[in-house]
Amino acid sequence: MRMIDLIAKKRDRDALTDAEIDWLITHYVAGDVPDYQMAAFVMAVYLNGMTRAEIVHLTLAMARSGDQLDLSAISDYWVDKHSSGGVGDKTSLIVLPLVAACDVPVAKMSGRGLGMTGGTIDKLEAIPGFRVDLSADEFKRQAKEQGIVLSGQSLALAPADGKIYALRDSIGAVASKPLIASSIMSKKIAAGANGIVLDVKVGGGAFMPTLEDGRELARLMVEIGADAGRDVIAVLSDMNQPLGVAVGHALEVKESIAMLSGEGAHDLREHCLAIAGHMLTLAGRGSRWTDAAEVRALLESKLADGSARAKLRQLVGAQGGDVTTIDDPSKLPASKLRADFTALRAGIVQQVNANAIAHAAFELGAGREKKGDRINLAVGLEVHVKVADRVEAGAPLFTLHFDDEGKRAACENWLNNAVTIGDASIEPLPLFYDVIRGSRATSPAPAPSASGRVDA
Ligand code: URA
Repeated sequence: MRMIDLIAKKRDRDALTDAEIDWLITHYVAGDVPDYQMAAFVMAVYLNGMTRAEIVHLTLAMARSGDQLDLSAISDYWVDKHSSGGVGDKTSLIVLPLVAACDVPVAKMSGRGLGMTGGTIDKLEAIPGFRVDLSADEFKRQAKEQGIVLSGQSLALAPADGKIYALRDSIGAVASKPLIASSIMSKKIAAGANGIVLDVKVGGGAFMPTLEDGRELARLMVEIGADAGRDVIAVLSDMNQPLGVAVGHALEVKESIAMLSGEGAHDLREHCLAIAGHMLTLAGRGSRWTDAAEVRALLESKLADGSARAKLRQLVGAQGGDVTTIDDPSKLPASKLRADFTALRAGIVQQVNANAIAHAAFELGAGREKKGDRINLAVGLEVHVKVADRVEAGAPLFTLHFDDEGKRAACENWLNNAVTIGDASIEPLPLFYDVIRGSRATSPAPAPSASGRVDA
């Protein structure tokens, strides 16, 4: 086989065979296929989509591209969660310790920032010393000893995704259903979780702009999971405005610590309680945690009594991080400069544009332009308003955290159009739009669209 023929096939909207997909992934991981050819292939997928059969096979080939973790000797049922990526989405930093505090083991592999969205692994690097590059043995040992582990893609799990993920980010080929579904599900399958909660973000600050797109992606991943013998719950959550207040790495870690101490923004708290609740429901396997009110009360008690925060501290300590930053978050990296960006008029907030806010944070240095770029972990924004809030003229809409005065104007350029204030009364945005469930037992048969093709 030749890579150029596979690129041409996808360019011409033909479907690849299972053998061709296996060849592509094996040879890319082995280094025989150069990045520029893979980039051309990935862009062809981005533009032309893939059939459902191709996506399923691509996911399995990527999952098999490295080690597959077997944690069954430690626990017979593992739960995991994954977000499709959003602005200010620090959910994993809160939900994993929260669920682990309920004595449900969590072992998660996370990614770096993708497109304009932040990645959990970059955020964790704001904690001095925190190791995100655990080996498979270290990962397993920590899962067994601590009941909580969170590492980057240094493990030899789904290395094909590690390479393709970074490539997609640097060529503008992120927002594609086949590529997101195979990326997320290959990691989840390789990491061995039995129950998976997928947080599929929908809206202007997400890779899926419409609810319809989000639903299609969610269904696809639920079905892939069920085919692979996993129980999956996918929630469709709003990402038109940022989640919580902070956008930027150290700022988001600080906000997560506050949330684990029972403080913080209402939307973030409700979001995290819902995701953690679904994880407990899966972990209960129908024999416990079947009552939503009881689950919520348990989770709230873990926030209130400090045990969720203590779990984060335990995670940080186990992975070499400076635990005193959890006790005193003012020790986390902080920017040199701060400035408020204020409302020009009074009124009701009609729109808070998550995408513009992500670009504004990027201008301050919070994002990567290309693979391997260094990011500034201290910079970012605090977002003080949500849709439907009433504001006065001169009230702070944002607080900028920055190191370089020269970057402020470009950031403010984005912020000028990031919040719309009007006179009409408006409903707050919902946190969730839908929940889609699938399991080995209940999975619907995969239903291809009329063309059988899943487009970007
Ligand atoms: N998260 C992932 O792991 N992969 C994607 O493609 C998008 C979000």
